[in-house]
Amino acid sequence: MADKLIYLDNNATTRVDDSVLEAMLPFLKEEYANPSSMYEFAKHSSNAIKEARVKVKEFFNAQNEREILFTSCGSESANTAIRGVLNMNKSKKHIITSKVEHPCVLNLYQTLEKQGYNVDYIGVNSVGELDLEELSEAVNDDTALVSIMYANNETGVINPIQKISEIIKKKNPQTKFFVDAVQVAGKIPIDVQSLGVDLMGISGHKFHAPKGVGALYINSKTVITPLIIGGHQERGRRAGTENVPYIVGLGAACDVARDHLKYEATEVKRLRDKLENGILKNIYNARLNTGIASRVPNTTNIGFEYVEGELILLHLSDMGICASSGSACTSGSLEPSHVLRAMNVPFTAIHGSIRFSLSKYTTEKEIDYVNSVLPGIIEKIRDLSPYQEELAALKKQKSL
Ligand code: PLP
Repeated sequence: MADKLIYLDNNATTRVDDSVLEAMLPFLKEEYANPSSMYEFAKHSSNAIKEARVKVKEFFNAQNEREILFTSCGSESANTAIRGVLNMNKSKKHIITSKVEHPCVLNLYQTLEKQGYNVDYIGVNSVGELDLEELSEAVNDDTALVSIMYANNETGVINPIQKISEIIKKKNPQTKFFVDAVQVAGKIPIDVQSLGVDLMGISGHKFHAPKGVGALYINSKTVITPLIIGGHQERGRRAGTENVPYIVGLGAACDVARDHLKYEATEVKRLRDKLENGILKNIYNARLNTGIASRVPNTTNIGFEYVEGELILLHLSDMGICASSGSACTSGSLEPSHVLRAMNVPFTAIHGSIRFSLSKYTTEKEIDYVNSVLPGIIEKIRDLSPYQEELAALKKQKSL
């Protein structure tokens, strides 16, 4: 392992921002009161939650603070939204999502399917863009809920949420629309009002708050049942003593993220593009899996043809570089990612696809280092590939 870590896996989780930690510390030390208590000491905690709620409200550009619910993570936000909406409307049995959602939505939909819901899983094209016609055709009078992610965690591809909202509401104004915005928070501006969504979830640890806190926007016209039943916290929508330090951290992270959006759109994107262009220029068997699709500024997903992704990751790890493959290791067999499969990424590239995701902490020096060592790593692995003829043909084709 190299002395210095180069962390290019920020879609998995991020480093906590120093100012976020600073804001949290008093509430992990001296300000430990239960915010529901009556005495003055507890007001410090309850006021801190109030302030954080305003910050999160502004982050979403929601209309008022009552539309913000604090949760423990992105998965809880999605589960609360989906189950909460469906429980309020038990007569409708049709729900829609996409084939490329995060497991916190996809696996929940599969569970709901077993419980009697009719589910439409909308497909994507070869660059990961949602099939809007298929979506429009799927919405009907019985559709209770549509759940579509804002940006995909593996590819970074952004869905046109405002357009999707219009399509849904035109077909059925009663249908609720939940957006998993976990992968856009801190990367592009969010404006729930102009997007026209009913519910939207985020997760703190994806944008420099700690793990263990998230939020759900629920517009004032939408009523949900709670996932956790108990005390009156969060206006009866989530029981349990509030996680004051983490809620404070989420509020602080929202403020920091809003100040950094321009940096994401310019500098983080520039470094991502530098990495991407370097790879595509210097490694002949590399393909950009998302082609021309619109993406968040920090993510690139590249397929290295005829090379095993896990081997690339191990070699990178030896050099202190953290990246990720879309594949999940299920019961001992390496299955390619459901996202890349839905995009029909050719079998020659799907197993060798790697996601690099940058953050505001990524430096030019780090990107230059990755660009300098990656061609050698790929060549080393390729030399052991059983597909020598195919690789030679590919090389010839690319050099023509
Ligand atoms: N949704 C998306 C798009 C994600 O990328 C993730 C995490 O990777 C989640 C939801 C789940 O978030 P959490 O880990 O906070 O539950």
